[in-house]
Amino acid sequence: MIPATFTYKRAASVDEALGLAAADGEDAKFLAGGHSLLPLMKLRLAVPETLIDIGRIRELSYVRDEGTHIAVGALTSHDEVARSGLLANELPLLAHAASQVGDPQVRHRGTIGGSLAHADPAADLPAVILGLGASLVARGPSGSREIAASDFFRDLFETALQPGELLTEIRFPKPQSGGWSFQKFTKRGIDWAIVGVAVQGDSVALVNMGSTPLRASSVEQALAAGAAPRDAAAHAADGTNPPEDFNGGREYRQHLARVLVGRALEEARSRS
Ligand code: FAD
Repeated sequence: MIPATFTYKRAASVDEALGLAAADGEDAKFLAGGHSLLPLMKLRLAVPETLIDIGRIRELSYVRDEGTHIAVGALTSHDEVARSGLLANELPLLAHAASQVGDPQVRHRGTIGGSLAHADPAADLPAVILGLGASLVARGPSGSREIAASDFFRDLFETALQPGELLTEIRFPKPQSGGWSFQKFTKRGIDWAIVGVAVQGDSVALVNMGSTPLRASSVEQALAAGAAPRDAAAHAADGTNPPEDFNGGREYRQHLARVLVGRALEEARSRS
């Protein structure tokens, strides 16, 4: 439970963070809220030689209305996302899902960018940003690029970010159509989702149903063809390969996905 030795550096700005990352190469890791990285380091599943602390870069903590989209800085905490009045009006699905992450301590330290860069398929926000059709802005030594959420999550804990690239912003198109719902099935309120479902209009995304967050495309196609919510939800587990663990097996999770997608679609329709 004690991490291997590492060098600690603190960046005061995005430029400084990028400079430190370029100097330290692939053995350096950014440290945001530390609520995913530090547990991994204690288990020695992550052994970075250098930690570049970006947690105090305030210029990356914001929620802004940019006209055609809402911009959320990568270092905005889950609590700030959950409490944002702008997000409550424009993206209530995101604000609500952030309020369901872990417990108050986790929400105050953990950041939206850290959650997305970590890319745990059991996390809540990756599926939400996939369902909302967001894009992610990454800055590296050669400038900025924008990556669609659908291209960002590559595999278990693996994203399109290159070594030394810093996730700076998440952009959500607006307005979002239709009602929304977030269903998170847990044994206790503060737990990770055994299965989760994010619905915005006819867009449906799944938490913990494979090695990445997933769009439930068979459900979306059934809805587009005019199926009723419960009939469309019968396709929720099509093409999924959920994990098996002490919380449940593959078939149990697939059953949960069908039930939760049905509930989510009905709740979303009642809100539209
Ligand atoms: P860190 O731990 O600092 O970093 C995580 C990874 O992302 C590292 O590899 C780091 O290098 C990289 N990184 C961080 N920021 C950036 C950036 N801007 N650019 C590039 N790379 C970056 N999550 C849920 O979704 N649902 C839950 O119910 C939940 N419950 C939790 C319960 C507990 C007890 C704990 C400890 C965590 C829980 N989490 C849960 C995880 C939580 O949401 C974390 O805050 C989040 O996954 C990581 O954010 P962080 O800011 O702490 O990132």
